Amino acid sequence: MALIFDIKRYAINDGPGIRITIFMKGCPLSCVWCHNPEGISVHKEKLYTKKKCIGCKSCVEICPEHALTLTRDGIISNNDLCILCGKCVEVCPTLALEMSGTEYSVDYLMSEILKETAFMDRSSGGVTFCGGEPLMHSDMLLELLRRCGEEDIHRVVDTTLYARPEIVTEVMQNCEMFLVDLKHMNSEKHRKYCGTPNERILSNIKMISEAGADFFIRIPLIEGVNADEENIRRSAEFLSSISWKRKEINLLPYHDIGKNKHEKLRTIYNPGSILMAPPSEEVQQRTIDIFEEYGIRAIIGG
Ligand code: SF4
Ligand code: SF4
Repeated sequence: MALIFDIKRYAINDGPGIRITIFMKGCPLSCVWCHNPEGISVHKEKLYTKKKCIGCKSCVEICPEHALTLTRDGIISNNDLCILCGKCVEVCPTLALEMSGTEYSVDYLMSEILKETAFMDRSSGGVTFCGGEPLMHSDMLLELLRRCGEEDIHRVVDTTLYARPEIVTEVMQNCEMFLVDLKHMNSEKHRKYCGTPNERILSNIKMISEAGADFFIRIPLIEGVNADEENIRRSAEFLSSISWKRKEINLLPYHDIGKNKHEKLRTIYNPGSILMAPPSEEVQQRTIDIFEEYGIRAIIGG
């Protein structure tokens, strides 16, 4: 059973048409720029937004474990005591406290997905499973994909492809499209910035391309990490060497959107202080030009 940390309706950037996107909690990667750091841990987590807190102490008073203290710096939680019962979240009048991660059954998720079929039908949309990493929860994912398939719902899986090839194959047979992020061609640098090497990801990309799967590649474009000419050229060489009908990628310029979420989790954004910056217009254009040289259309955004 996977914990779900968000269900987004009317999503327009997670595949074709209007979609419902289900976010599964837990990811084997831990990219320093991650936009959804609450999706990395497989466990429930409490989030706290200091600027929403009015200091009413309702949470402190209701906590059965005496895990919360109101300080000058807002509410401090003792995670050794907290059992994540959620009582503090229920009483917080301003939603300063939130819980990330809810256990939903496949039946419940199917009922939520089926509510959106009118929008999906009108827009040629469907459902997208993302995370975190949905392939970490392959049993539940496959059950959801099969049930959606029975309802003729278009299925997209947004994945790192950091998974065993047998799992990737089974998921591929039960979805219409993958969205795959390609973060770095150098395995050591991939490990440095994302916490894992990249060989498994690259071989899975090759495998799905050889199997004729439909997939989009997205590249987060980050100065200081992967926007240098050498990495872009290696990415273009790799993507032009595989059999792949789309030959179109999305470049996603760096954004520090994850910083705010780390503050809510009370964790540290970019703990290694890696210098990351949005790519300049010149770098964006150079990247587009390099991909074009290799016969690949690169589009900013996606
Ligand atoms: S989740 Fe439960 S145990 Fe944890 S701080 Fe809130 S009330 Fe206390
Ligand atoms: S209940 Fe909410 S608003 Fe009140 S002190 Fe706790 S976090 Fe702040």
